[in-house]
Amino acid sequence: MLCLALIATGPAQAGTLTRERITQALPSTLTVGEREAELPVWPVFRNELTSSVLVGYVFESIDFAPVPGFSGTPVNLLVALDVKGAFLDVQVLAQHEPVFVEGLGEAPLHAFVQQYEGLSLQQNIKIGSGQNRAGQAGSANVYIDGVSKATASVRIINQSLLSSALAVARAKLGFAAGRDPDLIGRVRPDVFDRLDVPALERRGLITRRVWLNQDVETAFAGTVGEGQDPLALAQPKALFSELLVAQLDVPTVGRNVLGEKGWAEMNAWLEPGDHFFLVASRGRYSFVGDDYTSGAIPDRLTLSQDGLTIEIRDFSLYTPPRLPADWTGPDVQWRVMKVISQASLDPARPLDFALSVSRSRGQILAESERKALPLPVRLPEDYVEQPRTNDKTWHSIWKGRAAELAVLCVALAGLAGVLARPRFLTAHPPRLKWARRVWLAFTLGFIGWWAQGQLSIVNLTALIQALVAGRSLDFFLYDPMTVLLWAFTLVTLVAWGRGTFCGWLCPFGALQELIAQGARWIRIPQVKLHSRTDAQLKKVKYGVLAAIVVAAAISPHWSDRLVEVEPFKTSITLVFVRSWPFLLWALGLLALNAVVYKAYCRYLCPLGAGLAVLGRLRRLNWLARRAECGQPCQTCRHRCDYQAIEPDGRIDYNECFQCQDCVVIHDSDRLCAPRILERKGRVIPVHPALPTASVTSPGAPAP
Ligand code: SF4
Ligand code: SF4
Repeated sequence: MLCLALIATGPAQAGTLTRERITQALPSTLTVGEREAELPVWPVFRNELTSSVLVGYVFESIDFAPVPGFSGTPVNLLVALDVKGAFLDVQVLAQHEPVFVEGLGEAPLHAFVQQYEGLSLQQNIKIGSGQNRAGQAGSANVYIDGVSKATASVRIINQSLLSSALAVARAKLGFAAGRDPDLIGRVRPDVFDRLDVPALERRGLITRRVWLNQDVETAFAGTVGEGQDPLALAQPKALFSELLVAQLDVPTVGRNVLGEKGWAEMNAWLEPGDHFFLVASRGRYSFVGDDYTSGAIPDRLTLSQDGLTIEIRDFSLYTPPRLPADWTGPDVQWRVMKVISQASLDPARPLDFALSVSRSRGQILAESERKALPLPVRLPEDYVEQPRTNDKTWHSIWKGRAAELAVLCVALAGLAGVLARPRFLTAHPPRLKWARRVWLAFTLGFIGWWAQGQLSIVNLTALIQALVAGRSLDFFLYDPMTVLLWAFTLVTLVAWGRGTFCGWLCPFGALQELIAQGARWIRIPQVKLHSRTDAQLKKVKYGVLAAIVVAAAISPHWSDRLVEVEPFKTSITLVFVRSWPFLLWALGLLALNAVVYKAYCRYLCPLGAGLAVLGRLRRLNWLARRAECGQPCQTCRHRCDYQAIEPDGRIDYNECFQCQDCVVIHDSDRLCAPRILERKGRVIPVHPALPTASVTSPGAPAP
């Protein structure tokens, strides 16, 4: 193992390592070469008695795959890869993931990346439950443990690591440029049937094809090779060549064709991702040319897949294979061919073998023509494990959370329906009260604690940092709950204002509201600030927002610190399991909320402030108002816990949380003063000196 623990951490930017720093961290038996001119990698050599042997390469992930994390800044890993594509070591050099910065702490992240040591790019490395950890050697799939509460972050880190390692493997280790190794199928090692050669052929496990002389003549028709083979012209129906191919690393093929001894001999040379093929031919044209030497790359036989040529190399296996019974005689030739793992051959997809034939015309200045006689081969589905979905990108996260996302979509559709037709609730105050309680419990329990769907100012700072650095915004897709909630919030923001999110969908807001209701129930005295003080304090949150936005644009370090004003990570993400300063802050805000209703939301929350700023795009004045509101009737205004109704009766949608309490009053013959008087046959005079609050009904456009 390369011991790289001495490497100090630093800010995430390309090129932080130097040869000297890596050398200091390596055992003395290893030396570090010069950083390569064309690629930011350092070769590492083992010193042997008379020579130095290349062990692998060291590089920084940020140089090859700067995948932004949830802060908008990429995690930078130090990666040591051996010459076969196995991880010698992985270390965290720099990270700004919110959950690991002052959250869970860095220890779980370090433990996570240490799991890669010994694993190979040839394996399907999956973040799971550790079920296959013990049996990783030689296994196609291997599971490493994720980090609870940081699922999306570790997925991004996994992608960053594998993508950067693959880029280096392709550039330095000869890995094929086709599909990623973890996106190809695998031969199933557990499927075996005892079969003879004819049965193997019937199952499609041995493929062969015959070409007669006339077939080859046809292939050369119209070229300089036409008519250049006298034997073919004389005996057109005679056999030119018959080619046979069987994939020996498939147990049902290898054990039956080679016998147990030959199977064991072959397996001693088989590494994960390698493949062996039996190739045999008979007839007057062999796939083995006259000057063929063992161990060579055959020049009469080619293999390609999806248009990419794959190198096959003769492998000296001493055990003779079982061939079809009629394959006897001196014209029968066989060889075992090896395809190394780096070629990324996908056994789940068709393979194109081809027998190459060349003909020439003329003695002096001879012209020649080459034709490929194709032999397509496809392994039957039962013997191969299909590639799984792209486990390291965001698609698998969406699939894996499909049930949660479906619940959220149904809930959001229901919420939109209820808010569009609020009379269902507002006409029955107890129904509204209980519906809100149940909904708030759902928001806190399901959206917040269970599905970790707390929107946060960190989403905004990550967006700013990624835009400033010109990075992709794909990282958002790793958190599908956040994507859906933001989409819904932005749409409702334009229609109804920030209150749809703050009043109904913010888990910390829901926690505060439920606690406030409990506080009132046990009669904790409530403090209602004077309207002037309230108005002044409401401006503070815009100052907090401005400070965070500026810090995000110029200093990720300060932005990481300032976003801690949000108690979301402590109370929702980590469910109050955190160090005491953060606990004290979150609990203090909740205690304050018990006496000053939702003080954090109204005075401090930068996310609420940001939503209020964006809420200026709101198109509808949708909460019902009447002419008498505010002039002189002040009933709703005094009942609004958020102090979001102006003295003139207008609703301040930037501060309204859409609790619907004022709509209940508006619709009630018992609570709405003008309606009470109306019932009694009296009319409340509208104050002529005040500007009139517009009479609005649900859906009225904003002025
Ligand atoms: S103001 Fe902040 S904490 Fe309150 S509900 Fe809105 S986003 Fe949540
Ligand atoms: S009472 Fe009315 S104005 Fe006040 S927060 Fe609730 S819905 Fe908004």
